Amino acid sequence: MRTTVIHGPQDIRLEERPRPRVLDPGDAVVRVVASCVCGSDLWDYRGIRPLAAPHPIGHELVGVVEAVGSAVASLLPGDFVIAPFSLSDGTCQACRHGAESACDQVTVVGGTDKEGRQLDGAQGEFARIPLADSSLVVVPEPVDPARIPSLLTLADVMSTGHHAAVSAGVGPGTTVVVVGDGAVGLCAVLAAARLGATRIIAMSRHDDRAALAREFGATDVVASRGDTGIAAVKELLGGNLADSACECVGTEQSMAQALGVVRGGGRVGFVGVPAGGPQLPVGQLFARNITVGGGMAPAHHYIPELLPDVLSGAIDPGRVFTQEFGLEDIADAYAAMDERRVVKSLIRL
Ligand SMILES: [Zn+2]
Repeated sequence: MRTTVIHGPQDIRLEERPRPRVLDPGDAVVRVVASCVCGSDLWDYRGIRPLAAPHPIGHELVGVVEAVGSAVASLLPGDFVIAPFSLSDGTCQACRHGAESACDQVTVVGGTDKEGRQLDGAQGEFARIPLADSSLVVVPEPVDPARIPSLLTLADVMSTGHHAAVSAGVGPGTTVVVVGDGAVGLCAVLAAARLGATRIIAMSRHDDRAALAREFGATDVVASRGDTGIAAVKELLGGNLADSACECVGTEQSMAQALGVVRGGGRVGFVGVPAGGPQLPVGQLFARNITVGGGMAPAHHYIPELLPDVLSGAIDPGRVFTQEFGLEDIADAYAAMDERRVVKSLIRL
């Protein structure tokens, strides 16, 4: 099968690898229908996170179950499934409390299994998925091809944006600032609107992303950063700060921005993959009674809540995919995101 392998910075190659098969009783093999490039894949692509060795890449996929192991009870060949980017056992204490991304056995699509074997990346034709019963989510048939991009966002970015909003305490009547205008930030805007926030301020410096943020429900856009950005938020809110902030970048500056725009007693939901550097200013949190929550999103936990709204068309988070590529154009799909020619690259197989 053809699959994507990263060899180093700016070095993305499509390679021929053996087609995966069931190795453990809990495995499923999925034929990938759609995948995409994640902002966190770009950490490798840009050389920010050094590579020990070339490895398959990509952790977001939807597809059709091809084969299942003998212990898999809830899946059948032919089922259309969403693979949450993190795979979980469904039985440990964290899983039982809806924190599947903190599972005792957690791994990610494209990571390694409990035996240390390399898993298939999502940006390929097939993938072996361990812990399949407790990880994969079946989409009721028939699946409308037009809904596939939005279904794919539930594997990661929409679930992650929702996690930011939930962790930030967003609810009916609240005011929220979203820091970050990548796909996750835009999905956080959509999630905040869905949860009933009345004022949603997107911090964005890019016209195309700001326009999409407004379509997703942002009431205001602030292009400035730092103290000027905080002042702009206050001006929009009649001299007040926001109840909540969603930190969707993962840098020291973005966390400082999120902490700076929330009121005393407010909440920050953070989902940006920490890119090195940021340390929480505990003194500031103490003095201003700010709650910080979040982390890696338990996509599996949120999909049952979000899926009906995607299937009904009530939300259309797939609009974050501003360009489609074939698998043979995977290198360009990365370059397009790296150069910000697209918000997020969709890979159709
Ligand atoms: Zn678990």
